[in-house]
Amino acid sequence: MAISRRLGSATTRSRARTSNSSGPSVRPVRQSLTALVDALDGMVYRCKTGEARYFESVSAGCAGLTGYSAAKLLSRRGTFYNSLIYTDDRARITAELSQALAATRRFSIEYRITSRGGAVKWVRERGAGRHAARGSEWIIEGIVEDVTTQRAAFRALQESELRFRGLFENATEGIFQTSPAGVYINVNRALARIYGYDTPEEIIAAVADIQNQLYVDPARRVEFVTLMRADGVVTNFVSEIRRRDGDRIWISENARAVYDAADSLLFYEGTVEDVTETKLNQEKLEYLANHDAVTGLPNRLLMNDRLRQMMLQAQRNESVVAVALIDLDHFKLINDTFGHNQGDQLLQTVARRMQACLRETDTVARLGGDEFVLLLSGEGRGEALSQVTQRVLKAIALPWRIEQRELSVSCSIGVSVFPRDGRDVQTLLKNSDTAMYKAKEFGRNNFQFYSSEMNAAISERLELQNALHHAVEAEQFVLLYQPKVDLVTGRVAGMEALLRINDEERGLLLPQNFIRVAEETGLITTIGEWVMREACRFNKSLQVRGLPPMRVAINLSARQLMRNELLRTVELALHDTELAAEYLELELTESMVMHDPEEVIAMLNQLKDLGLKLSIDDFGTGYSSLSYLKRFPVGSLKIDQSFVRELGQEDNAAAIVKAIISLGHSLDMHVIAEGVETAEQLTFLIENNCDAMQGYLFSRPLSADDFIALLERESSRGDGYSILRQLCPPLDQGNLEFGSDISGS
Ligand code: C2E
Ligand code: MG
Ligand code: MG
Repeated sequence: MAISRRLGSATTRSRARTSNSSGPSVRPVRQSLTALVDALDGMVYRCKTGEARYFESVSAGCAGLTGYSAAKLLSRRGTFYNSLIYTDDRARITAELSQALAATRRFSIEYRITSRGGAVKWVRERGAGRHAARGSEWIIEGIVEDVTTQRAAFRALQESELRFRGLFENATEGIFQTSPAGVYINVNRALARIYGYDTPEEIIAAVADIQNQLYVDPARRVEFVTLMRADGVVTNFVSEIRRRDGDRIWISENARAVYDAADSLLFYEGTVEDVTETKLNQEKLEYLANHDAVTGLPNRLLMNDRLRQMMLQAQRNESVVAVALIDLDHFKLINDTFGHNQGDQLLQTVARRMQACLRETDTVARLGGDEFVLLLSGEGRGEALSQVTQRVLKAIALPWRIEQRELSVSCSIGVSVFPRDGRDVQTLLKNSDTAMYKAKEFGRNNFQFYSSEMNAAISERLELQNALHHAVEAEQFVLLYQPKVDLVTGRVAGMEALLRINDEERGLLLPQNFIRVAEETGLITTIGEWVMREACRFNKSLQVRGLPPMRVAINLSARQLMRNELLRTVELALHDTELAAEYLELELTESMVMHDPEEVIAMLNQLKDLGLKLSIDDFGTGYSSLSYLKRFPVGSLKIDQSFVRELGQEDNAAAIVKAIISLGHSLDMHVIAEGVETAEQLTFLIENNCDAMQGYLFSRPLSADDFIALLERESSRGDGYSILRQLCPPLDQGNLEFGSDISGS
């Protein structure tokens, strides 16, 4: 490619000069420099300034840049190139150039030229100027390069950066970058706004610990990080967030972990969406799908679900679940007479009343129409179940106001029990339904169990409850008295009052048949008070008759012991019957006193302070703690009949009886054996220094009159020892030794 004439001639001139001074090596260097300059992309030039720029030489690259030859460019006294420059850019170039020249610094100016053929190119011209030998002229040397592609790429980059910045800043979703340690690196406006901050800068400054400042449940953030570590991404990760103002919102995060080339974690980045409304709507929908619109109770769907869960739990705990199907009696009539509005109100009232009867773990559901279901967990015993169902029956039957009138509806309840009556939802519901129809047949307003044994047990219980109420009203209670015999003197030294119901039809009912129901219904307090008075009255009457004074023992139930009135009841009974306190004894069982030892000890001390005696009944069957036993103000132990019965049959029994006697004595207690039926048992007790006995061998529980007769016979005989001798043949044969007062008589 030809280099310009002028550049060529200058070269020739300087070559001549340098070849003189520098010798033969200069020439090839200059030649290769020229080749190098010509080989460069772009136009290397030299020009002079005056009114315009006059180009003196240009390199071969000018053709690639402008499409014109060097000769063309240097034409018009070297000003042709100027005409290629975009008119709009010319003034700027002149200004920038003269500034740079004035400051004698290099310049770099970008502008447009129109190349041959009309294509517009962006060029960058760089160079420096120096003063020409003459006047105010400058000589400038530089290079003009085509930067069109470069500029386009840069522009594109700039534009895309601008676009993304816009996306980032104007997005409605929150966008973030956070450090692995949980600090914000970068967030957009939307994120700041979602979390209640005015600007991104504000939230970045305020939140130093994302996990604990933002997450309502910080464990959720731990989960986020764990997922990130495992998968590198999380999608639709929903958590509850505490906003700056304390409000709670739900957000959904989509994020990924960003690593560097060495695979170490740089940061997390992702988006945050406020999904509170969606979540609430979802909850609302879920609620609607699972609840009945009229009563707000769980519907069939949710009931099925809960029942399944309760069955699983019952299986684990080996307990039961009762499914009670409730149908309102004659509901249709109310609906038809008073309209659906009133009907709905009734259903709502019924729902509220049922809920009030249950524990938190139970469920009331409405299946539709006037059908409800109760799910009761852990109600193993029929009685407990029947109590709940009875409560529900009563609650529903309470009067209800409608248009100034009082109405009441009853209901019929059918109960099936998992696992006995079925092991799946459908079977249980079907069987409850069968039972419910049975209840309707029985005249409504009642409940029936699916299983017949359970019904039998319940109806017997109901009968008993009625009988008890009746017995209280008709004063059908009687006390029998069983003598306690002192094994040292051989005399009747006391008696135990034992309760019976004198039923017209069934004769004397034993306590085992009614005490529990009396306790459960609370009737035991009334009955117990009567027992106490009656026993005291009877004992006082014996003393008035002139019989030797002795103690009467009565049995207390746990329900009585727990009541604060007990002390007052005892005082009143003693006061009203004028019996001295020392002649009254209270029998308690181990389980009663062990239930809440500290409280019981306080109560027992108060009773003891009144002057009466306390004993522990059925000793050996409970789990008395010896440390407590020492602290109970108890004067005697009654060895349980089960051990006495087995004496002579079971080696263990003998060992236990011996142990109880010596334990009692070591605690300074009086020990009495109950249920003594044979001479052999008595012999063993005497041999082992038991203090007293009570049992059929000496006497069954007697009516008041028979007891008086027994005492009168005994006091006329004046010899207790002879009675014992009759009962216990070894005594007769002189094989046994007794206390001195007996052996001496
Ligand atoms: P308990 O206090 O252990 O009474 C002893 C029971 O054993 C009485 O039964 C008595 O009749 C029976 N018995 C006495 N000697 C013999 C014998 O030689 N052989 C056999 N097999 N039994 C004998 P009962 O009268 O049926 O009373 C049973 C339980 O009922 C009593 O056990 C007591 O815990 C409770 N009880 C009785 N009366 C009352 C009362 O007025 N109030 C309360 N709360 N409970 C009472
Ligand atoms: Mg007793
Ligand atoms: Mg007993």
